[in-house]
Amino acid sequence: MEQLTTSQVSSIDQQHIWHPYSSLTSPIPAYHVVSATGVRLKLADGRELIDGMSSWWSAIHGYNHPRLNIALKDQIDTMSHVMFGGIIHEPAAQLCKTLVDITPDGLEKVFLSDSGSVSVEVALKMAIQYWYSLGQPQKTRILSLRKGYHGDTFGAMSVCDPVTGMHHLFSSTLAQQLFTESPRCRFHDDWDESYIADIKNLLEKHSHELAAVILEPILQGTGGMHFYSPTYLKRVRELCDEHDVLLIVDEIATGFGRTGKLFGCEWADITPDILCIGKAMTGGYMTLAATLCTSKISDGICNGEAGVFMHGPTFMGNPLACSVANASIDLLLSTNWQARISDIEQQLKSGLAPAKDFDNVTDVRCLGAVGVIETKKPVDVAQIQKQFVAEGIWVRPFGTRVYVMPPYIISKSDLDTLMRGMLNVVQNHKN
Ligand SMILES: *Cc1c(COP(=O)(O)O)cnc(C)c1O
Repeated sequence: MEQLTTSQVSSIDQQHIWHPYSSLTSPIPAYHVVSATGVRLKLADGRELIDGMSSWWSAIHGYNHPRLNIALKDQIDTMSHVMFGGIIHEPAAQLCKTLVDITPDGLEKVFLSDSGSVSVEVALKMAIQYWYSLGQPQKTRILSLRKGYHGDTFGAMSVCDPVTGMHHLFSSTLAQQLFTESPRCRFHDDWDESYIADIKNLLEKHSHELAAVILEPILQGTGGMHFYSPTYLKRVRELCDEHDVLLIVDEIATGFGRTGKLFGCEWADITPDILCIGKAMTGGYMTLAATLCTSKISDGICNGEAGVFMHGPTFMGNPLACSVANASIDLLLSTNWQARISDIEQQLKSGLAPAKDFDNVTDVRCLGAVGVIETKKPVDVAQIQKQFVAEGIWVRPFGTRVYVMPPYIISKSDLDTLMRGMLNVVQNHKN
């Protein structure tokens, strides 16, 4: 195949290619990236951008990492893929054992899948099949939080925020779930029981038809970039137990250190019945996700009518993805990641603080390796993206949230450059 020129790439892109949440009738030109190393994305025109996004939470070790590269190359020469039905291999065994060891105590069983959304589908199916198996087929609804985000497939969409998830567009086909208010308590707020009054009330009224509560722990990501109190999480765990409703925790964004703990659940010292992980699991190299559950859930499902859990993706347990996940987790755990994240948090806090005084900013908040500037009005993404690129940084805001979650390996000076660029752009952005 002949190599495409930059203008050919761009023209094919505009004519044929859908990007996440994009229009094909008024497409916004996409930036052509030719390579990425460390925390830098290199554009076709030679410019280099400091990455503030970790490619949506995933590239925690930066790009083109020698250890991850070797893990993949070695695995390619051994076996790239083999079906998972009736077959097991070392990379999957290694990964699942590690996941059981590092996730909260009690999560013993692992279902591997291809993407975060699918791991959420699997979690919802586990919860529903569990109650069905226990002779409670009426427990099928899910209680979710406003401003939550759990993915783009149908089951996952049904538990996303109804407004930002555009439920009305799909209302005839989406499962009708229950929603409680987004947690009103901020991360450091003193606890007040009124914060859980709404979810408590819903659990009391609807426990007979509820299979599970689903939530993102500590940090509501794509739906709002809000950090909330660990006590909320702890109390929801207790309420679920009281009302015989399962708890599904979606750690697809928060997993693998992002909030300062290896998993967000650790802030509240809880074990969910079902846990979803993805994004950073392979260090951003391959798409891979997992749904973990306790033995209570797997026993319930497997002792029921079907006798098996009803799900099985073609690329389940892909050896390439498992190998690079093993290498990525090993790399993370072999470094002093907690100190690293804490340094990033301190630097984000002081570096972004000046934005609090900007006229067009309502809030600045940071936790772990996540920094958020909330603007008064939604930003014009196409326009602001251009300004970020002109500053030599890659930041992709949504709505009123201009946020960064850089690779953990980012240097102090690169993070300074990234934040200075953010402040410049936000301060001068007219929307
Ligand atoms: C990204 C994300 C998902 C969806 O994962 P995909 O890999 O994009 O399907 C689900 N839940 C949360 C919390 C996420 O951040």
